[in-house]
Amino acid sequence: MEKDLSKSGLNTICTHSGELADPQFKGAVSPLYMASSYAYEDVAIKRYPRYFNTPNQEALSKKIADLEHAEAGMIFGSGMAAISTTLMAFLRAGDHIVLQSALYGGTYNLVIEEFEKYGIDYTFVDGTEVAAFEAALTPKTKVLYIETPSNPLLSIFDVAAFAQLAKSKGLVSMIDNTFASPVNQNPIDLGFDIVLHSATKYMGGHSDICAGAVATSKKHIDHIFQLAKNFGGSLSDYTVWLLERSIKTMGLRVAAQNQGALAMARYLKQLEGIGQVYYPGLESHPGHDIAKKQMKGFGGMLSFELEPHLNASAFVGHLNLIKASMSLAGVESTVLMPAQTSHFLLGEAERKRQGIAENLIRFSVGIEEVEDLQQDIQQAMKKTMADNIVTI
Ligand SMILES: *Cc1c(COP(=O)(O)O)cnc(C)c1O
Repeated sequence: MEKDLSKSGLNTICTHSGELADPQFKGAVSPLYMASSYAYEDVAIKRYPRYFNTPNQEALSKKIADLEHAEAGMIFGSGMAAISTTLMAFLRAGDHIVLQSALYGGTYNLVIEEFEKYGIDYTFVDGTEVAAFEAALTPKTKVLYIETPSNPLLSIFDVAAFAQLAKSKGLVSMIDNTFASPVNQNPIDLGFDIVLHSATKYMGGHSDICAGAVATSKKHIDHIFQLAKNFGGSLSDYTVWLLERSIKTMGLRVAAQNQGALAMARYLKQLEGIGQVYYPGLESHPGHDIAKKQMKGFGGMLSFELEPHLNASAFVGHLNLIKASMSLAGVESTVLMPAQTSHFLLGEAERKRQGIAENLIRFSVGIEEVEDLQQDIQQAMKKTMADNIVTI
């Protein structure tokens, strides 16, 4: 590993931090070391993919750490591998965890389907108020877990205030920073202990990688590693290398997505046929002031409802440029209907309780020209409205 770039600017970190030198051929990018077997040079360094310490894994971990202003990082085979391993590293039988209700579906499922087996108790808290989370703490609470902006309504949680609560109660604080990306939000600067990512999203950015990451102190990484090597959720070096390549453009991509999403949110807000628009960059968003305080950009994710008389599934079907897709954060714009996909299993009553309308559309804004995205929305809306005109 070359010189320390941890204090450099964002795009310098994205491009160069952690990169491996190529003294033999002097190539411009990190060489890819595919070996799964290394000589045991000394007792301290035993390189092995599942020990998370191959040359490419170490190189990318350094980049992730620098991006999140953390001492250390670790790369996993998926976002859920990073999240599950980190949670289980800090929870044991008899412990309690407090999490927000508006949680990524995979994390929610992990908690409700697995924690009981391990004797771990949990409480989900509605809304974004710190006081409500404080009220849910018990003497057994060990971990406070949030994600902001949340999925799919882009609710904003006050990161510094939650960090303060966790510190004052001696809890380990964890945040899923996937939706913001390290480009827009650095929770460690605001006092959080552990930052988690689905690198499948903005870090990968091209809808062709599944990976996860954690960034935190050296001490916490050592602790997470003890479980990670047993759970075995490491990522193949080829994908590690590809992810390093992808992150080089993350700053540029996310900046374009921030701009595009703000323009699309404003456009949708004034468009006939559109109901509520949820985007933290809009002044009408209840979390706008906090978002302004803690985020450098408002992100590439937004969601919106159609007016109730219009068929939202038909609208999605009429889109040409913007694809319907399960995932998010790629350079291509995609939409998803949470009620039919990510939040289907919650059931209609629980969705209603969480404020997720049946016709809500989540929009991941890519890097296409805003005018082209607007045209696509406009023609789809025109067709959706025409569907409603019954000829006599
Ligand atoms: C996708 C996602 C995850 C899970 O990541 P995988 O890479 O699919 O395992 C976790 N949190 C958030 C916010 C996500 O969007």
